[in-house]
Amino acid sequence: MKLLRKSCILIMTAAVILSSGCSFDSEYNCEFFAMDTVMTISAYGSKSESAVKAAQNEINRLDKLLSVQRENSEIYRLNRLKEMTVSEDTLTLITRSKEIYTLTDGAFDISCEPLIREWGFYSGLENKVPSQQAIENALKGVGAAHINIENSRVKLDENTSLDLGAVAKGYASRKASEILKENGVSSALMSLGGNVRAVGSKPDGESWSVAITNPDDNSKSIGTLKISDKAVVTSGGYQRYFEENGQIYHHIIDTKTGHPADSGLKSVTVVSEDDTLADALSTSLFVMGLEKSKEFYSQNSLLFGAVFITHKGEIFVTDNLNDSFMSKQDFEVISV
Ligand code: ADP
Ligand code: MG
Repeated sequence: MKLLRKSCILIMTAAVILSSGCSFDSEYNCEFFAMDTVMTISAYGSKSESAVKAAQNEINRLDKLLSVQRENSEIYRLNRLKEMTVSEDTLTLITRSKEIYTLTDGAFDISCEPLIREWGFYSGLENKVPSQQAIENALKGVGAAHINIENSRVKLDENTSLDLGAVAKGYASRKASEILKENGVSSALMSLGGNVRAVGSKPDGESWSVAITNPDDNSKSIGTLKISDKAVVTSGGYQRYFEENGQIYHHIIDTKTGHPADSGLKSVTVVSEDDTLADALSTSLFVMGLEKSKEFYSQNSLLFGAVFITHKGEIFVTDNLNDSFMSKQDFEVISV
Protein backbone atom coordinates (compact mmCIF):
# COMPACT_ATOMS: atom_id res chain seq x y z
CA MET A 1 0.00 0.00 0.00
CA LYS A 2 2.80 2.32 1.07
CA LEU A 3 4.77 1.48 -2.05
CA LEU A 4 1.71 1.91 -4.21
CA ARG A 5 1.12 5.36 -2.76
CA LYS A 6 4.72 6.31 -3.43
CA SER A 7 4.45 5.07 -7.02
CA CYS A 8 1.32 7.13 -7.60
CA ILE A 9 2.99 10.24 -6.24
CA LEU A 10 5.94 9.73 -8.51
CA ILE A 11 3.80 9.21 -11.57
CA MET A 12 1.99 12.41 -10.74
CA THR A 13 5.27 14.26 -10.32
CA ALA A 14 6.38 12.96 -13.68
CA ALA A 15 3.05 13.96 -15.21
CA VAL A 16 3.49 17.52 -13.94
CA ILE A 17 6.93 17.64 -15.45
CA LEU A 18 5.97 16.13 -18.75
CA SER A 19 2.92 18.30 -19.16
CA SER A 20 5.11 21.36 -19.32
CA GLY A 21 4.15 22.03 -22.90
CA CYS A 22 6.25 19.61 -24.92
CA SER A 23 4.99 17.90 -27.99
CA PHE A 24 7.81 17.42 -30.44
CA ASP A 25 8.61 15.08 -33.31
CA SER A 26 10.67 11.95 -32.62
CA GLU A 27 9.86 11.94 -28.96
CA TYR A 28 10.35 8.63 -27.17
CA ASN A 29 8.80 8.06 -23.73
CA CYS A 30 9.38 5.12 -21.50
CA GLU A 31 8.11 4.22 -18.03
CA PHE A 32 9.50 1.35 -15.97
CA PHE A 33 10.03 0.15 -12.42
CA ALA A 34 13.56 -0.01 -11.01
CA MET A 35 15.34 0.78 -7.76
CA ASP A 36 12.07 0.33 -5.89
CA THR A 37 10.34 3.17 -7.70
CA VAL A 38 8.69 4.28 -10.94
CA MET A 39 11.01 5.85 -13.50
CA THR A 40 10.25 7.79 -16.66
CA ILE A 41 12.53 8.88 -19.48
CA SER A 42 11.48 11.22 -22.30
CA ALA A 43 14.04 11.80 -25.02
CA TYR A 44 13.95 13.73 -28.27
CA GLY A 45 15.61 13.27 -31.66
CA SER A 46 15.89 10.50 -34.21
CA LYS A 47 18.06 8.28 -32.01
CA SER A 48 15.92 8.62 -28.91
CA GLU A 49 14.41 5.11 -28.81
CA SER A 50 17.68 3.16 -28.86
CA ALA A 51 19.33 5.69 -26.53
CA VAL A 52 16.53 5.40 -23.95
CA LYS A 53 16.71 1.59 -24.08
CA ALA A 54 20.46 1.74 -23.45
CA ALA A 55 19.92 4.13 -20.52
CA GLN A 56 17.24 1.85 -19.08
CA ASN A 57 19.59 -1.14 -19.32
CA GLU A 58 22.24 0.82 -17.45
CA ILE A 59 19.80 1.68 -14.63
CA ASN A 60 18.76 -1.98 -14.35
CA ARG A 61 22.42 -3.03 -14.27
CA LEU A 62 23.14 -0.59 -11.43
CA ASP A 63 20.01 -1.71 -9.55
CA LYS A 64 21.31 -5.29 -9.59
CA LEU A 65 24.66 -4.10 -8.26
CA LEU A 66 23.66 -1.54 -5.64
CA SER A 67 20.35 -2.72 -4.18
CA VAL A 68 20.44 -3.43 -0.46
CA GLN A 69 17.57 -5.90 -0.73
CA ARG A 70 18.19 -7.85 -3.94
CA GLU A 71 19.83 -11.13 -3.05
CA ASN A 72 23.19 -11.36 -4.76
CA SER A 73 23.61 -7.67 -5.40
CA GLU A 74 27.12 -6.58 -4.51
CA ILE A 75 25.89 -4.55 -1.54
CA TYR A 76 23.78 -7.49 -0.32
CA ARG A 77 26.82 -9.78 -0.46
CA LEU A 78 29.16 -7.21 1.09
CA ASN A 79 26.73 -6.75 4.00
CA ARG A 80 26.90 -10.48 4.69
CA LEU A 81 30.55 -11.24 3.92
CA LYS A 82 31.85 -7.96 5.47
CA GLU A 83 34.91 -8.07 3.23
CA MET A 84 34.91 -8.20 -0.56
CA THR A 85 36.48 -6.94 -3.76
CA VAL A 86 33.84 -4.78 -5.41
CA SER A 87 33.21 -3.46 -8.94
CA GLU A 88 34.31 0.00 -10.05
CA ASP A 89 30.80 1.46 -9.73
CA THR A 90 30.29 0.17 -6.19
CA LEU A 91 33.75 1.31 -5.17
CA THR A 92 33.20 4.79 -6.65
CA LEU A 93 29.91 5.17 -4.81
CA ILE A 94 31.16 3.93 -1.42
CA THR A 95 34.26 6.15 -1.69
CA ARG A 96 32.18 9.19 -2.66
CA SER A 97 29.70 8.46 0.14
CA LYS A 98 32.52 8.46 2.70
CA GLU A 99 33.68 11.84 1.36
CA ILE A 100 30.15 13.25 1.63
CA TYR A 101 29.90 11.88 5.19
CA THR A 102 32.89 14.07 6.05
CA LEU A 103 31.59 17.05 4.05
CA THR A 104 28.21 16.93 5.86
CA ASP A 105 29.62 16.17 9.31
CA GLY A 106 27.96 12.75 9.31
CA ALA A 107 24.46 13.85 8.27
CA PHE A 108 24.89 11.64 5.21
CA ASP A 109 25.71 8.15 6.40
CA ILE A 110 25.43 4.99 4.26
CA SER A 111 26.12 2.81 7.29
CA CYS A 112 22.50 3.51 8.35
CA GLU A 113 21.36 0.01 7.22
CA PRO A 114 20.94 -1.53 10.73
CA LEU A 115 18.81 1.47 11.76
CA ILE A 116 16.63 1.38 8.63
CA ARG A 117 16.13 -2.34 9.35
CA GLU A 118 15.14 -1.69 12.99
CA TRP A 119 12.53 0.87 11.88
CA GLY A 120 11.24 -1.68 9.35
CA PHE A 121 11.71 0.41 6.22
CA TYR A 122 12.71 -2.52 3.99
CA SER A 123 9.98 -4.30 2.06
CA GLY A 124 8.89 -7.47 3.80
CA LEU A 125 9.53 -5.94 7.25
CA GLU A 126 6.96 -4.40 9.52
CA ASN A 127 7.27 -0.72 10.40
CA LYS A 128 7.71 -0.31 14.15
CA VAL A 129 9.24 2.03 16.71
CA PRO A 130 12.28 0.10 17.99
CA SER A 131 13.23 -0.09 21.66
CA GLN A 132 16.01 2.23 22.81
CA GLN A 133 18.14 -0.89 23.39
CA ALA A 134 17.65 -2.02 19.79
CA ILE A 135 18.63 1.46 18.54
CA GLU A 136 21.76 1.46 20.69
CA ASN A 137 22.72 -1.98 19.38
CA ALA A 138 22.21 -0.85 15.79
CA LEU A 139 24.28 2.28 16.40
CA LYS A 140 27.33 0.16 17.30
CA GLY A 141 28.23 -0.31 13.64
CA VAL A 142 27.17 3.13 12.40
CA GLY A 143 29.68 5.74 11.16
CA ALA A 144 32.07 6.02 8.23
CA ALA A 145 35.05 4.96 10.37
CA HIS A 146 33.58 1.43 10.25
CA ILE A 147 33.97 1.33 6.45
CA ASN A 148 37.52 0.64 5.29
CA ILE A 149 38.65 0.78 1.69
CA GLU A 150 41.92 -0.66 0.39
CA ASN A 151 42.35 -0.55 -3.37
CA SER A 152 39.14 -2.17 -4.63
CA ARG A 153 38.55 -4.14 -1.44
CA VAL A 154 35.92 -2.94 1.02
CA LYS A 155 36.00 -4.13 4.62
CA LEU A 156 33.14 -3.48 7.03
CA ASP A 157 33.35 -3.82 10.79
CA GLU A 158 31.38 -6.67 12.36
CA ASN A 159 28.21 -4.66 13.12
CA THR A 160 28.29 -2.54 9.98
CA SER A 161 26.07 -2.82 6.88
CA LEU A 162 25.55 -0.39 4.02
CA ASP A 163 22.48 1.13 2.37
CA LEU A 164 23.07 3.22 -0.76
CA GLY A 165 19.36 4.14 -1.07
CA ALA A 166 20.06 7.85 -0.69
CA VAL A 167 22.61 8.03 -3.55
CA ALA A 168 22.03 5.11 -5.92
CA LYS A 169 19.33 6.90 -7.96
CA GLY A 170 21.55 9.97 -8.27
CA TYR A 171 24.47 7.89 -9.47
CA ALA A 172 22.16 6.03 -11.87
CA SER A 173 20.78 9.27 -13.31
CA ARG A 174 24.30 10.55 -14.03
CA LYS A 175 25.28 7.29 -15.74
CA ALA A 176 22.00 7.17 -17.68
CA SER A 177 22.37 10.79 -18.86
CA GLU A 178 25.91 10.05 -20.05
CA ILE A 179 24.57 7.08 -22.02
CA LEU A 180 21.81 9.18 -23.59
CA LYS A 181 24.41 11.73 -24.73
CA GLU A 182 26.81 9.04 -26.00
CA ASN A 183 23.90 7.63 -28.02
CA GLY A 184 23.17 10.91 -29.75
CA VAL A 185 20.49 12.45 -27.51
CA SER A 186 21.01 16.09 -26.56
CA SER A 187 17.56 16.77 -25.15
CA ALA A 188 15.89 14.56 -22.54
CA LEU A 189 14.18 14.58 -19.17
CA MET A 190 14.34 11.72 -16.70
CA SER A 191 12.52 11.16 -13.45
CA LEU A 192 13.97 8.33 -11.38
CA GLY A 193 11.61 8.45 -8.44
CA GLY A 194 12.14 11.86 -6.89
CA ASN A 195 15.33 12.35 -8.89
CA VAL A 196 14.88 14.51 -11.96
CA ARG A 197 17.70 14.95 -14.50
CA ALA A 198 17.58 17.30 -17.46
CA VAL A 199 19.84 16.44 -20.37
CA GLY A 200 20.44 19.67 -22.26
CA SER A 201 17.43 21.96 -22.80
CA LYS A 202 14.02 21.30 -24.34
CA PRO A 203 14.15 20.67 -28.09
CA ASP A 204 13.08 24.29 -28.69
CA GLY A 205 16.05 25.53 -26.67
CA GLU A 206 14.01 26.63 -23.63
CA SER A 207 14.81 25.43 -20.11
CA TRP A 208 12.86 22.54 -18.62
CA SER A 209 10.26 23.30 -15.94
CA VAL A 210 10.50 21.00 -12.95
CA ALA A 211 7.71 21.17 -10.40
CA ILE A 212 8.45 20.89 -6.67
CA THR A 213 5.78 18.79 -4.98
CA ASN A 214 3.73 20.36 -2.21
CA PRO A 215 4.55 18.09 0.77
CA ASP A 216 1.01 18.59 2.14
CA ASP A 217 -0.75 17.74 -1.10
CA ASN A 218 1.24 15.63 -3.49
CA SER A 219 -1.09 16.41 -6.38
CA LYS A 220 -0.01 20.05 -6.23
CA SER A 221 3.26 21.89 -6.59
CA ILE A 222 4.65 24.73 -4.49
CA GLY A 223 6.69 26.18 -7.32
CA THR A 224 8.83 25.37 -10.32
CA LEU A 225 12.51 25.41 -11.20
CA LYS A 226 13.69 26.32 -14.71
CA ILE A 227 16.76 24.23 -15.43
CA SER A 228 18.98 22.84 -18.18
CA ASP A 229 21.58 20.10 -17.85
CA LYS A 230 21.14 19.64 -14.13
CA ALA A 231 19.80 17.26 -11.55
CA VAL A 232 16.92 18.22 -9.24
CA VAL A 233 16.44 15.89 -6.28
CA THR A 234 13.86 16.09 -3.49
CA SER A 235 13.94 14.33 -0.13
CA GLY A 236 10.95 14.60 2.15
CA GLY A 237 9.48 13.05 5.23
CA TYR A 238 6.21 12.63 3.29
CA GLN A 239 7.73 10.18 0.82
CA ARG A 240 7.89 7.05 2.98
CA TYR A 241 6.53 6.91 6.51
CA PHE A 242 4.29 5.18 9.01
CA GLU A 243 2.15 6.37 11.89
CA GLU A 244 2.12 4.95 15.40
CA ASN A 245 0.17 6.41 18.35
CA GLY A 246 -0.54 9.55 16.37
CA GLN A 247 3.13 10.17 15.64
CA ILE A 248 4.64 10.13 12.12
CA TYR A 249 7.93 8.28 11.59
CA HIS A 250 9.66 8.71 8.22
CA HIS A 251 12.54 6.97 6.44
CA ILE A 252 15.32 9.58 6.72
CA ILE A 253 17.32 8.79 9.82
CA ASP A 254 19.61 11.03 11.84
CA THR A 255 22.34 8.50 12.55
CA LYS A 256 23.53 10.61 15.50
CA THR A 257 20.31 9.70 17.36
CA GLY A 258 19.12 6.61 15.49
CA HIS A 259 15.68 8.24 15.09
CA PRO A 260 13.97 9.79 12.06
CA ALA A 261 15.43 13.26 11.52
CA ASP A 262 13.31 15.84 13.31
CA SER A 263 14.81 19.01 11.97
CA GLY A 264 11.75 21.11 11.23
CA LEU A 265 11.76 20.49 7.48
CA LYS A 266 9.08 18.91 5.32
CA SER A 267 11.22 18.65 2.23
CA VAL A 268 14.49 19.74 0.66
CA THR A 269 15.07 20.01 -3.09
CA VAL A 270 18.67 20.20 -4.28
CA VAL A 271 19.83 21.41 -7.71
CA SER A 272 23.30 20.51 -8.95
CA GLU A 273 25.22 19.50 -12.04
CA ASP A 274 26.41 16.54 -9.99
CA ASP A 275 23.53 14.03 -9.66
CA THR A 276 25.18 11.90 -7.00
CA LEU A 277 25.91 14.94 -4.85
CA ALA A 278 22.38 16.32 -5.37
CA ASP A 279 20.88 13.03 -4.17
CA ALA A 280 23.19 12.75 -1.17
CA LEU A 281 22.73 16.40 -0.21
CA SER A 282 18.93 16.36 -0.38
CA THR A 283 19.01 13.64 2.28
CA SER A 284 21.78 15.37 4.28
CA LEU A 285 20.19 18.84 4.36
CA PHE A 286 16.90 17.25 5.41
CA VAL A 287 18.76 15.74 8.39
CA MET A 288 20.63 19.00 9.16
CA GLY A 289 17.61 21.29 9.20
CA LEU A 290 17.40 24.88 7.97
CA GLU A 291 19.93 26.63 10.21
CA LYS A 292 22.76 24.13 9.70
CA SER A 293 21.91 23.97 5.99
CA LYS A 294 22.29 27.76 5.72
CA GLU A 295 25.75 27.51 7.24
CA PHE A 296 26.59 24.58 4.94
CA TYR A 297 25.41 26.60 1.94
CA SER A 298 27.58 29.58 2.86
CA GLN A 299 30.61 27.27 2.67
CA ASN A 300 29.55 25.22 -0.37
CA SER A 301 27.45 27.54 -2.54
CA LEU A 302 29.37 26.62 -5.69
CA LEU A 303 28.33 23.00 -5.37
CA PHE A 304 24.53 23.21 -5.19
CA GLY A 305 21.35 25.26 -4.79
CA ALA A 306 18.37 24.29 -2.64
CA VAL A 307 14.70 24.92 -1.88
CA PHE A 308 13.56 24.20 1.70
CA ILE A 309 9.98 23.79 2.91
CA THR A 310 9.58 24.02 6.68
CA HIS A 311 6.96 22.46 8.93
CA LYS A 312 5.34 25.89 9.17
CA GLY A 313 4.97 25.88 5.37
CA GLU A 314 7.62 28.58 4.78
CA ILE A 315 9.77 28.37 1.64
CA PHE A 316 13.47 29.25 1.65
CA VAL A 317 15.53 29.38 -1.55
CA THR A 318 19.31 29.79 -1.92
CA ASP A 319 20.30 32.93 -3.80
CA ASN A 320 21.95 31.03 -6.66
CA LEU A 321 18.45 29.79 -7.65
CA ASN A 322 16.92 33.26 -7.57
CA ASP A 323 16.52 33.42 -11.34
CA SER A 324 15.27 29.86 -11.80
CA PHE A 325 12.74 29.42 -8.95
CA MET A 326 9.17 30.63 -9.36
CA SER A 327 6.31 30.36 -6.89
CA LYS A 328 2.94 31.96 -6.27
CA GLN A 329 3.76 31.78 -2.56
CA ASP A 330 6.11 34.13 -0.76
CA PHE A 331 9.59 32.83 -0.19
CA GLU A 332 12.72 34.00 1.56
CA VAL A 333 16.12 34.04 -0.15
CA ILE A 334 19.16 32.61 1.64
CA SER A 335 22.29 34.60 0.81
CA VAL A 336 25.82 33.26 1.01
P1 ADP B 1 14.26 8.49 -1.56
O1 ADP B 1 15.32 7.51 -1.96
O2 ADP B 1 13.13 7.88 -0.80
O3 ADP B 1 13.81 9.33 -2.69
P2 ADP B 1 16.41 9.78 -0.13
O4 ADP B 1 17.29 9.99 -1.30
O5 ADP B 1 16.38 10.90 0.85
O6 ADP B 1 14.92 9.50 -0.53
O7 ADP B 1 16.93 8.47 0.57
C1 ADP B 1 16.30 7.92 1.69
C2 ADP B 1 16.86 6.52 1.88
O8 ADP B 1 18.25 6.61 2.21
C3 ADP B 1 16.22 5.79 3.04
O9 ADP B 1 15.16 4.98 2.58
C4 ADP B 1 17.36 4.96 3.58
O10 ADP B 1 17.49 3.78 2.82
C5 ADP B 1 18.57 5.83 3.33
N1 ADP B 1 18.89 6.78 4.44
C6 ADP B 1 18.09 7.17 5.47
N2 ADP B 1 18.72 8.06 6.26
C7 ADP B 1 19.95 8.25 5.71
C8 ADP B 1 21.07 9.07 6.06
N3 ADP B 1 21.07 9.86 7.12
N4 ADP B 1 22.17 9.00 5.24
C9 ADP B 1 22.20 8.20 4.16
N5 ADP B 1 21.18 7.40 3.80
C10 ADP B 1 20.06 7.44 4.54
MG1 MG C 1 18.95 11.33 -1.48
